[in-house]
Amino acid sequence: MHHAAARCRDDSDLDDGVAPGNVPELPEVETVRRGIAPALEGASIERAVIHDPRLVRPFDPEIVAGELVGERVAAVERRGKYLIVRFESGRVLLIHLRMTGSLRLARRGNLAEDPHTRAVLSMDNGSDVAYRDVRRFGTWEVLEAGELRPFLARRLGPEPLGTLSADGLGRRLAGRRAPLKSVLLDQRTIAGLGNIYVDEALWHSRLHPLREAGSLDPTERRRLHRAVRKVLRLGIERQGSTLRDYAAPDGAYGTMQDEFRAYGRAGEPCYRCGRPLARIVVGGRGTTFCDACQAAPL
Ligand SMILES: [Zn+2]
Repeated sequence: MHHAAARCRDDSDLDDGVAPGNVPELPEVETVRRGIAPALEGASIERAVIHDPRLVRPFDPEIVAGELVGERVAAVERRGKYLIVRFESGRVLLIHLRMTGSLRLARRGNLAEDPHTRAVLSMDNGSDVAYRDVRRFGTWEVLEAGELRPFLARRLGPEPLGTLSADGLGRRLAGRRAPLKSVLLDQRTIAGLGNIYVDEALWHSRLHPLREAGSLDPTERRRLHRAVRKVLRLGIERQGSTLRDYAAPDGAYGTMQDEFRAYGRAGEPCYRCGRPLARIVVGGRGTTFCDACQAAPL
């Protein structure tokens, strides 16, 4: 089966202009991964129900559900904003939460009634995993062994919390004339950032969102590299931010929103200089920054 080839939707976010909320980014997806991994790893899928054909289109939900039954989970991993449920057979279930997707975990029969449940996996260890998605942009794709690597390679740059160095990041920005904000949102530059963590990283690194991405000097690249990793680590530590329609698998809420320095704070005082933060639109995305400490492009 060649599911990967049949899909061509890119990884762009769909938030601003479509809805006031925001999408789960690397820390939120990592929080979900950590929440569901213990219940899934080592367990087999006994029953799979996919209520919403849109989740697996263009494939038939019953056929996809049938493919999942009997698969034993070897590991639950994450790459960028993708959740990767890796089966012992070599197949994977690739989940992208997009705007409002989330996973809920419960003991068999204890899932709350929820009109937004799009799929349920019942595991042979007595756990049920429900996928809920209000706006229904999320995707589930079953990939055969060998399809995952090229699928991700086409869509994602390196993991920012992996071995990526400041020089490595610099090489990925080199020659790029687009605004820094847009280049960082492009999942092919580095994987996992969205509107929240880009605004936060630019605030921490004191870089203007409209700077030409390729124009950063080595010191600025180091500042950016450090800031990206800092805000992502903090986000994971705080178990993500609580956004509209987003919660961890146990229904708990993260607290990263308490750490926001830029995102969602337009008009409020900058934590560094006290001046009100500005809001502009960059590449169609609402962008909050301090036009005093984040120096304007020359
Ligand atoms: Zn400031």
